[in-house]
Amino acid sequence: METRSAREIWGAALGELQIQVSKPNYRTWLEKTVGWNYRDNRFVVSVPNTFVAEYLDKNQRSLIEKTLINLTSSHNIQVTFQVDGRYKNLADARGGEWKIGASGFKSSYVFDSFIVGNCNRLAYAAAQGIVQNPGYSYNPLYIYGGVGLGKTHLLHAIGHLAQARHIQVIYVSAEQFTNEFVKAIRERTTDEFHNKYRNIGMLLIDDIHFISGKKQTVESFFHTFNALHNANHQIVITSDQPPKSIPLLDKRLRSRFEWGLIVKLQPPDFETRLAILQSKAKQREVNLAIDVLGFIAQQIQQNVRELEGALNRVVAYAKLFNASPTIELAAQALEDINSKEPGHTSTTSSLVIEAVADSFQLDAIDLKGSKRDKETTLARRAAMYLLRQETNCSLAQIGQKLGGRDPSAVTNACKRIVSDINHNPQLRHKILDIQKIINPQSKHWRH
Ligand code: ADP
Ligand code: MG
Repeated sequence: METRSAREIWGAALGELQIQVSKPNYRTWLEKTVGWNYRDNRFVVSVPNTFVAEYLDKNQRSLIEKTLINLTSSHNIQVTFQVDGRYKNLADARGGEWKIGASGFKSSYVFDSFIVGNCNRLAYAAAQGIVQNPGYSYNPLYIYGGVGLGKTHLLHAIGHLAQARHIQVIYVSAEQFTNEFVKAIRERTTDEFHNKYRNIGMLLIDDIHFISGKKQTVESFFHTFNALHNANHQIVITSDQPPKSIPLLDKRLRSRFEWGLIVKLQPPDFETRLAILQSKAKQREVNLAIDVLGFIAQQIQQNVRELEGALNRVVAYAKLFNASPTIELAAQALEDINSKEPGHTSTTSSLVIEAVADSFQLDAIDLKGSKRDKETTLARRAAMYLLRQETNCSLAQIGQKLGGRDPSAVTNACKRIVSDINHNPQLRHKILDIQKIINPQSKHWRH
């Protein structure tokens, strides 16, 4: 039975987490959290807002759970993040991403909110076109493009309009289609399943690549497709690839997909990204200067969902720090995203090694070599730990950079140094100082 209170345990956990994550990270996500409840291996942390809850849940959960497990010496802990201690599930936290209207289509995914640029003009026109003349203009309409470029948005937009015109329309992801089909086989209800999909006016099927290689589902979909097509009922298909590139897709199905119109969604150009940001900012009633929006648009180029995420992040940062959303603040907010850019890793890792060597008054060569005296070993451990914290290097890469050591040796070194840091304030300061050198931007957060 745990006798310490959740508040105390969390206080200790914060002490550990403070040295395990970067300073801006700690400030932003952990500082204002409180241990709320601990019972039956469930640990509840109270956080100031849903944004923080979601971030911690997605990015720091395993680190936090490990830390709590160490502190309580239990075998297993599950952590949940609640806003002000009140239960909020993560669907709420996402601002109700899948708030489905009575129509069954997501209310914000309409044609009006879809920003049109050269990258998506054809797909947009085709999508509108088929609702004007379903089944007869191009059947099927096949829309493909990378993640987050608006495929699902367009399908829902078609759905809204079709429904307004009293067309019986079903939207289904290929995954859901597969699951339903499998369930129908198991429960011997395939006739009902076929009736459901073959007797409708329009079928919108999302991410069709999901069925590739699933023979029976492909077969079932093939017959569904034929039934609808023969009746001139509209089919709209999306995928991340053109039909010819989907592996293990039945040849007959592939050729049917090519009967209609195939359109590609390209990543948006700068002007379109800016227009999307302006429109999203307006929807959310947040006021960001055009140069800040431009900055965000420059940072995120391949994915509209990430573009929106970046906007939300900047807005949340401004709120959390009660600061005005300047370019500088946006740069801070998007720091993690930028550090994922290729090329960043190598410069940072050599910087880390240099900074550690310097602080321990050693040569970088020594850290990379096989010397095993106490000081060198400690410095090498610190370097492994900081490479783990401050770069995106994998354990294997870190081992490589520091004298061809095993990934497991790196893990052990990191564990040991965390415990060393806890017991040795001097070392702790040393590590924090090195972190300041590696991460000079974080001066922004220091007073
Ligand atoms: P996909 O299905 O291609 O992965 P989504 O349709 O889910 O992408 O789009 C991701 C997010 O980006 C959604 O919130 C969507 O509203 C938004 N989005 C994508 N393209 C546009 C656009 N051209 N204009 C406005 N919002 C867009
Ligand atoms: Mg999608």
